[in-house]
Amino acid sequence: MSTTATKTDAPATDRQRALFDRLVEERVHPYTPEVIALLRKASGPNMSKAISALLGAPRKPKPVETVTIEPGVYKKNGDIYEIKKSRTGVLRVKRIRVVGSKVQRYASFYRAGQFTPDDKVTLDDATGFGHQYGICCCCFRLLTDAQSVHDGIGPVCKKRYFPAQ
Ligand SMILES: [Zn+2]
Repeated sequence: MSTTATKTDAPATDRQRALFDRLVEERVHPYTPEVIALLRKASGPNMSKAISALLGAPRKPKPVETVTIEPGVYKKNGDIYEIKKSRTGVLRVKRIRVVGSKVQRYASFYRAGQFTPDDKVTLDDATGFGHQYGICCCCFRLLTDAQSVHDGIGPVCKKRYFPAQ
C-alpha cells in the first residue's frame, strides 16, 4: 500500500475514514487490527480502494443474542430449566417437568438470554428436586444408590457441579 502512495495523494477524509470504520465492523474481511490501523492512515485513493473492496465483501452474520450464561440447570419462578448448547453453538432452553417418574422436556417461554448466573440451581434446589422426584437435578438420571437417594443428588454430579459444598 505505501509503495503505491505518492506525496501527491490527498489524505483520506474523515468521511472516508468513518465509512471505512463502519464497513470494517459490518463486512467479512481478512484485515488484522494492524492492517486496519495502517489502512486508516492510507491516502484518499488507497482508502477508496479499501472501501471498494469492503463494499464488495459479504456482510458478517448478525450476532445472535449475546448470552453470558453457561449451559446447565437453572431455576426460574419455581420451575427447573435445562440450558444446553446446540451443535451450532446456540443455547437452547427446555423446561423440565417430572411426569410420573419420567423427566420430560418442554418448550420454554424463557429464552437463554433471560437467565442470569443467579438463576443457576443451588445445591439446596438440586437436593430438594432429588428428594422430591428421586432424580438427579444435574443429569436427570434416576437416583438408585441408597446414599444418593438419601443425599438427593449423585456423588459425581455433586462433586462436579457443587465442588465447594
Ligand atoms: Zn446427576
